[in-house]
Amino acid sequence: MTDSNVAAQECSTSGAGGHAFEKFQAREVLLGGLRIMRALPIRQKRLVGPWCFLDRFGPQSFTESKPLDVAAHPHIGLQTFTWLLEGEILHKDSLGNEGLLQPGGVNVMTSGGGIAHAEESPMQNSGLLNGVQLWVALPDAWRNGAASFQHLGEVPRIEQRDGTVNLFAGSLLGNTSSARHFSPLLGADLEVRAGGSMELPLDPSFEHAVLLLSGDAKVNRGFIEQGSLYYLGINRSRLEITSGNSCRMLLLGGPPFPETILMWWNFVARSPQEIERARSDWQNHERFGEVPAYRGPRLDAPPLTRFAAANPAS
Ligand code: MN
Repeated sequence: MTDSNVAAQECSTSGAGGHAFEKFQAREVLLGGLRIMRALPIRQKRLVGPWCFLDRFGPQSFTESKPLDVAAHPHIGLQTFTWLLEGEILHKDSLGNEGLLQPGGVNVMTSGGGIAHAEESPMQNSGLLNGVQLWVALPDAWRNGAASFQHLGEVPRIEQRDGTVNLFAGSLLGNTSSARHFSPLLGADLEVRAGGSMELPLDPSFEHAVLLLSGDAKVNRGFIEQGSLYYLGINRSRLEITSGNSCRMLLLGGPPFPETILMWWNFVARSPQEIERARSDWQNHERFGEVPAYRGPRLDAPPLTRFAAANPAS
């Protein structure tokens, strides 16, 4: 198969030269009865620091069937960060790890050169699902390293006058998340109370973006709406969030990622050949291992020639 037959998406930092306030509408993806808004990658193929993927799922309630049930599937070249506002997600992987994620904690999986995992709503659950899953592109020097999984039951909660910062990745306000990462980044869930104002210092060498998770908000005096990612550019040293009726907001950042990545299905790579090899290894039950704790068939890779988006909430 020739290179041009791998329908991968090329993503790179897109000339973040200064401040920006750009709105990018998220796309709706349906996974069974679960409605997912995919906010990254965006059409303009821009990364936000090393963050290359963002799925927003819920809020929704359920009674009978599991709303989230993503069978075993492989990853290369990335980390997944899963963060919940409500509900529970059970992670199982090919290293034998199981991690029950609940609000306030974070699940961080580092694929290195290859891992397989499954994610599902646990049998015992609150009947709620509300959260995000993010991917971080691993830098070239680390992307073929060992796979690992980290479950943090809680992350730093930094109380501010008018709200709380939940810091699940990187450093902010003198606090640091113990989530493993391989290049500088920032990931936080900001809670601002009704009528409140929160001011945060930003690293001006980072580019940043925000996604409103609930409620209403203004960012540096500009209104933002749910369902869209707002790219804020680089060279900002402060962020001011105000809310009328309270809000929660995802804040992402990192230095513009210096490498161009190729994304196809659940793989983050640099060349079509790597994607082709990873796909064939998965199909041939090589490299990635199995996820025996997940009861059910694993996912088949789609054909290489078809543009293959990642599994929803994967
Ligand atoms: Mn996945």
